[in-house]
Amino acid sequence: MKKLLPLLLGVALSLALSACTLFCEHEYTDATCVAPHTCTKCGETSGEALGHTWAEATCTEAKKCSVCGEISGEALGHSWTDATCTEAKKCSACGEASGEALGHTWKDATCKAPKTCTKCNETTGEKLEHTWEDATCTEAKKCSVCKETDGTALGHAWKDATCTEAKKCTRCNKTSGNALGHSYKDATCTEAKKCSNCGKTTGKALGHDYNQTGLNGSKIKYKCNRCSHTYEKEMEKLKVSAEYTGTGTSFGSNGINYTFGYEAIASGGYGKYQYKFEVFSGSEKIEHLTVDFSDSNSYGISSPYGALAVLNNTLKVTVKDGAGNQATYELDMTIKAE
Ligand SMILES: [Zn+2]
Ligand SMILES: [Zn+2]
Ligand SMILES: [Zn+2]
Ligand SMILES: [Zn+2]
Ligand SMILES: [Zn+2]
Ligand SMILES: [Zn+2]
Ligand SMILES: [Zn+2]
Ligand SMILES: [Zn+2]
Repeated sequence: MKKLLPLLLGVALSLALSACTLFCEHEYTDATCVAPHTCTKCGETSGEALGHTWAEATCTEAKKCSVCGEISGEALGHSWTDATCTEAKKCSACGEASGEALGHTWKDATCKAPKTCTKCNETTGEKLEHTWEDATCTEAKKCSVCKETDGTALGHAWKDATCTEAKKCTRCNKTSGNALGHSYKDATCTEAKKCSNCGKTTGKALGHDYNQTGLNGSKIKYKCNRCSHTYEKEMEKLKVSAEYTGTGTSFGSNGINYTFGYEAIASGGYGKYQYKFEVFSGSEKIEHLTVDFSDSNSYGISSPYGALAVLNNTLKVTVKDGAGNQATYELDMTIKAE
């Protein structure tokens, strides 16, 4: 039945066409997008077709008439923009999204930058503190992680070279050049060989080399051959010893001959000495002799001094030096007959 319906309508239309030519009124249909008003009886038209009312093509639909539904061309297709860290792939035209956001790809914070996305450069949090290493003589304060520097190197703190050490930095111990070496000054009578820079000494002072140069009253004058230093010294007390040394032959009043020797030694004094020998018999001085010596402070003499006829006598030796010091030494003389 449905297939027959258009056929029947067509027959009716052709009957009507012929009918409108005579007198009846046209029965117009509304104008459509593509056809003007048209009489349903005779097919006569009036006015113009309306034309399509196009809706622009979208991403997913072609250009389309909103009235008759006719389609022209094709859908535009989406204009995808790439997905970002925070947004999914998205059509810039219609806003449709596809898939998911990529998510950030974080790189850890450093002392130069906070935690940062390598794709979009978004940051979060704060930079880390630098790990500063102190400035040195040759390098500025420096971050051991990022190598950033701050300020300048300190420069060396030089201490001058000494006799035994080269010029040296008191901070880093770097040296420059050589030690100066000692500048020795020769030893003198009173000072050892000595460095004129650092005062280091080596060896000993030479000591004075004195000569006696004469007398000043009871003082002996001395002068150093090397440095001409002079001094005076009170003479020492004279020291005397005397010793009976032997016997000889002579004759005495008893008819026996005796001789005797002696030795007297004086030391410690200076200048002219006078030796006086006295021989006593009991309390009676029976003989004496005076002998002068000079120019030495030590004498020895061994001499017989004469033929004496004494028995059980005493020998006194008195020694006097040029300064008036005097000492007497007493000896018992036992003279044996031969
Ligand atoms: Zn008509
Ligand atoms: Zn249309
Ligand atoms: Zn789209
Ligand atoms: Zn990102
Ligand atoms: Zn750093
Ligand atoms: Zn240094
Ligand atoms: Zn020195
Ligand atoms: Zn001297």
